[in-house]
Amino acid sequence: MVSKREHSLSDMAGLFDTHCHLNMEPLSRDTGGVLERAFSIGVERLLVPAVSEDNWDVCTELSFLPGISCALGVHPWWAEDGVDVEELKSKIISSNAIAIGEIGLDWKIEVSRQRQLTVFQKQLELASEMDIPVLLHCRNAFEEMLELLTRFPVRGTVHGWSRGSQLMDRFLQIGLHISFGGAITRAGCKKARQSATQIPSNRFLLETDSPSIGLAGVPTGQSEPGHIAKIAQVMADLREVDFEEIKSSAWSNSIQLFGDEC
Ligand SMILES: [Zn+2]
Repeated sequence: MVSKREHSLSDMAGLFDTHCHLNMEPLSRDTGGVLERAFSIGVERLLVPAVSEDNWDVCTELSFLPGISCALGVHPWWAEDGVDVEELKSKIISSNAIAIGEIGLDWKIEVSRQRQLTVFQKQLELASEMDIPVLLHCRNAFEEMLELLTRFPVRGTVHGWSRGSQLMDRFLQIGLHISFGGAITRAGCKKARQSATQIPSNRFLLETDSPSIGLAGVPTGQSEPGHIAKIAQVMADLREVDFEEIKSSAWSNSIQLFGDEC
């Protein structure tokens, strides 16, 4: 295992993959190779979100590797398990997790909506109490999410953005960031690409959501953090600016939200 890098990360603008599931197969089978490929193309930091209580420990262990941070939380797909907020709080403190995530609402799945709302709200309350950012997952539940975020204001980002800019503006208005990933690399994802073009330069983050989300030319299940460079390049092309400018904006937005320690 490599030791933590000693220099301050805040003065370097590297690529920051703000959402990658290194604990999931196939990435978990070759963590060393995945990280080597990512670092070799300029990735400096990676954020690994948990999805359920039974992967809090493995995500914490991954965060001991250089450049890696973790987020702990209960994803709506696992909302039936409930959430022990005191346990989550103590795990966040002991693991130095930099966010609560991923959490949210997903009306496309069978899990009880009431259950999802309860588990989500409890974690928003904790985020607000601890003043720690959240990583939000949302499918087809945007009105309900906006309503809860208005009642329980937090800092954070809506990850895997694939919607249009009118809806995006409502999240920006309540202070949230928006994370763009593989969707913007596909010509058919017109709404996501329109949002990527229109978002203010101080409010976007980049992510791969690897391995689950593919990119143009990279099938679902086979993406990895190193593909963040391609996402940054597409962002640059869409906004008609340099790659370096996107890299530096995404880096400073990420540091502003998550801090410069990992
Ligand atoms: Zn995810």
